[in-house]
Amino acid sequence: MTTLEIKNLQVSVETEDSAKEILKGVDLTINSGETHAIMGPNGSGKSTLAYAVAGHPKYTVTGGQVLLDGEDVLAMGVDERAQAGLFLAMQYPVEVPGVTVSNFLRTAKTSIDGEAPKLRHWVKDVKGAMEALRMDPAFAERNVNEGFSGGEKKRHEILQMELIEPKIAILDETDSGLDVDALKVVSEGVNRVKDKTGLGVMLITHYTRILRYIQPDYVHVFVNGRVAESGGRDLADRLEEEGYDRFLTAGV
Ligand code: ADP
Ligand code: MG
Ligand code: MG
Repeated sequence: MTTLEIKNLQVSVETEDSAKEILKGVDLTINSGETHAIMGPNGSGKSTLAYAVAGHPKYTVTGGQVLLDGEDVLAMGVDERAQAGLFLAMQYPVEVPGVTVSNFLRTAKTSIDGEAPKLRHWVKDVKGAMEALRMDPAFAERNVNEGFSGGEKKRHEILQMELIEPKIAILDETDSGLDVDALKVVSEGVNRVKDKTGLGVMLITHYTRILRYIQPDYVHVFVNGRVAESGGRDLADRLEEEGYDRFLTAGV
C-alpha cells in the first residue's frame, strides 16, 4: 500500500522576467488502488500540479510538501522520483530524436528497476502490452513521439506505464485528442494496470468523457490553483451538466 500526500503545495512558474504563482495551496492524498479525477477549466494549474510533483525544473515549489509513503519527494531528483514509483504521462509528450520506442522502454525500465530486465520475459512483456493496446509491432522501431499521431502518443505513454509498473501514476489529459476507439483502448490499459498492480491514479481531465471508462473514486474540481470542491462520481455528473461556471463566477 502506497500513499502520495500533497500538502498545502504552492508552486510558481518561472517566466522570462518574473515568477508567477500558480498553485496556491493544494491538498490531495492518493492511496494505492484509488483513482482521483482532477477536473477544471483550462489554465487552472492542473498540468502545473503534475509537473511540480514530477520535478520539472521550470516549476518552483515555494511552499508545502509532497510525500510518498512519508518520503520527501521534493528532495528527490527526477530519476529518484521515478525510481520511488511515481509516473507522469504528460499532456504534451516530447520527441526523443534518434531513440526508438524499444530502446527507450528498455532504458527506462533498467533505470527505474536498477537492473536490466531479463531479455526473454521483457520481449514477451513488450509484445503482450503492445498487442493489448492494439499497437502495430513495427511501432517499436520508430523514434519516440517523432511524427506520432495524438492517439499514438497517448498509447505510448500507457505502454510505458504498463511496463514500468509504477505505484502512483499522474495522467495529464490522456483523453485529449482521442477518438472513442482510442479512448477505450487507452482506458482499458489504465484499468488493466490498476487491476494488476493496485496502481493509484491521479487522472487529470478537462472533460467527463473518460470517466465513463475509468471509474473515479473521487472527483476534485480544480480552480485557480486550488481544489475548490471534492466529491464522488456524482460531482463529475454535475460538472457535465453545469460546466465550471459556478466555480468561476463564485471567484473561488
Ligand atoms: P491547466 O493544465 O489547468 O490548463 P496549466 O498548469 O497548464 O493549467 O497553467 C496554469 C497557468 O500557469 C496558466 O496561466 C499558464 O499560462 C501558466 N503557465 C503554466 N506553465 C507555464 C510556463 N512554463 N510558462 C509560463 N506560464 C505558464
Ligand atoms: Mg490546459
Ligand atoms: Mg494542462
